[in-house]
Amino acid sequence: MAKKQFKSESRRLLDLMINSIYTHKEIFLREIISNASDAIDKLCFISLTDDKVGLDRNDFKITIKADKDNRTLTITDNGIGMDKDDLENNLGTIASSGSYKFKQNMEEKQDDIDIIGQFGVGFYSAFMVAKKITVNTKKYGAETGFCWQSSGADGYTISELDKGTAGTEIILELKDNTEDESYDEYLEQYKLQSLVKKYSDYIRYPIMMDMTHSRVKEETKDSEKPEYEDYTETETLNSMVPIWQRRKQDVKQEEYDSFYNEKFMTMDKPLRTIVTSVEGVVTYKALLFIPASTPYDYYTKEYKKGLQLYSSGVLIMENCEELLPEHFRFVRGVVDSADLSLNISREMLQHDRHLLTIAQNIEKKIKNELNAMLTSDRENYEKFFSAFGRQLKYGVVSDYGMHKDALQELLMFYSSTEKKLVTLSEYVDRMKEEQKYIYFATGENAAAIDTLPQTELLRSKGFEILYCTEDVDEFTLQTLMTYKEKKFCSATNDDLGIENEENKEDEINNDALLTFVKETLGDKVSEVTSSKKLVSHPVCLTAKGGISFEMEKYFNSVQPNSGMKAQRVLELNLSHQAVKNMESLIQTDIEKAKKYAEVLYCQALLIAGLPLENPSEYTDLVCSIM
Ligand code: ADP
Repeated sequence: MAKKQFKSESRRLLDLMINSIYTHKEIFLREIISNASDAIDKLCFISLTDDKVGLDRNDFKITIKADKDNRTLTITDNGIGMDKDDLENNLGTIASSGSYKFKQNMEEKQDDIDIIGQFGVGFYSAFMVAKKITVNTKKYGAETGFCWQSSGADGYTISELDKGTAGTEIILELKDNTEDESYDEYLEQYKLQSLVKKYSDYIRYPIMMDMTHSRVKEETKDSEKPEYEDYTETETLNSMVPIWQRRKQDVKQEEYDSFYNEKFMTMDKPLRTIVTSVEGVVTYKALLFIPASTPYDYYTKEYKKGLQLYSSGVLIMENCEELLPEHFRFVRGVVDSADLSLNISREMLQHDRHLLTIAQNIEKKIKNELNAMLTSDRENYEKFFSAFGRQLKYGVVSDYGMHKDALQELLMFYSSTEKKLVTLSEYVDRMKEEQKYIYFATGENAAAIDTLPQTELLRSKGFEILYCTEDVDEFTLQTLMTYKEKKFCSATNDDLGIENEENKEDEINNDALLTFVKETLGDKVSEVTSSKKLVSHPVCLTAKGGISFEMEKYFNSVQPNSGMKAQRVLELNLSHQAVKNMESLIQTDIEKAKKYAEVLYCQALLIAGLPLENPSEYTDLVCSIM
């Protein structure tokens, strides 16, 4: 029979497994069992509506059989099985999510071996312990079964097979023992029992194995020298209680962590584990996780939000989007409710009353947990916020600000005075008595905002400024409009709500200078004013009206030539030497004074991060007065 070659990416994964020096090879069993359980889930689901399956929920099981003489370990399930195409697609190539993710991670990281244990590496992990693998399988509803065989890198064969019922049998021919490693241990019943307990205890179908024990022979029970005999019984190795059905106090955090890693193919520990059990109008249990980092595909279309939905322990939907609001789409977890009908269609589910209630409760629960984390576990909350803060801000902005009340307490911004992330509530509590607004400034990064001239006056007054460094930040504050009745005010606004006493007189006295600059610049600016906020810089630009510079930049970047333009107000610091020089030039050399006005305007543009209309004209201008 002709051998088929593995696809190249599968080959690499395979090589890694075959030559693995990984110390926790035992995880192969977890992977095989988890595949078996998934396969049973699928057939179990079909059986709800299709009598032809002929199996009841209680008939499904996974069996482990160790054959010491032949050194084989066989794992059997009566799940959905595979046909020829499935075998080609699933075992001949890495089509599946788990292995694919693993592969991607492998490319990013060089320390391959280390991540095997933390990842669902799938079927191929069996090659860590097996020199040959046989998969005998028949798909539910198919005429014939198939036998897939492979001894590793040199490819695989598929042939037809006479098999009665649907399901899969995986036979692992164990590797030969070496000096360093004994593979025989995977044939020991107690080893296998403990591996199942350790990794697969919550699998919802019985994992059965024949266990041999010793007992006193009945007839020698009363004699002085009792004799012993072996007897064999089929035992269920796992407790089958899903982890979310167990009481929180009975589960160790490590158990939650490893469930999370395995189920959601992640490597890190969750930042927070949320366990909730509700009884009432609707009854459900939920186990939710707040991830510690942003998944690599989080901001792409590939990322699927949603929770796994179970009805009394039977998986009915892999990704139920309806259970999570968009702003909490980072949450991972499972929900199990007996109130949901098992064979509900996705369309019907969207309007299901119970489901909507559960979704509302879950949203509240997540919000409360995040709040609790913010108050009592600040360090982790900040980690969370760096990973998903942007998502919360999008949540404020979206749906016309509908969720802003729910989310505003969870927001954080970098503070000019605290030099760290702070909440709006902390800001308001610290506000000075004479301070009217909550101030914010926008820029590429904190360092750039630190030196923004527009913030000089605010700083000199000791007012705290929130830094907006992400494109969504300013929109977020604009959507909020106020927080605890305090308005938000941009540092680039023409009116900061502050009187700067010293400059007042100049303002009145220098109408002539302001008019001169305005006439020189023409339509480039809508107004020229004497600045109340500049201290050491000569000029700055502020925006008047509803559109800020950041909005102008943003809209022009998403839609060039959108024509979106903030109204520019040029503020002059009348006590600055450069401005004074310009003023005296009006009398002596008006052409030069005009050049000064142009240069100062260009500088203001640069500081605001706005493009110069004509950079070479600007440099010519500067040179001409140097
Ligand atoms: P993953 O489980 O992450 O999808 P695997 O490499 O473990 O990746 O498995 C690949 C695919 O092979 C599975 O997604 C499934 O479609 C199929 N498969 C594996 N084991 C079985 C089984 N016992 N019964 C039916 N299908 C299986």
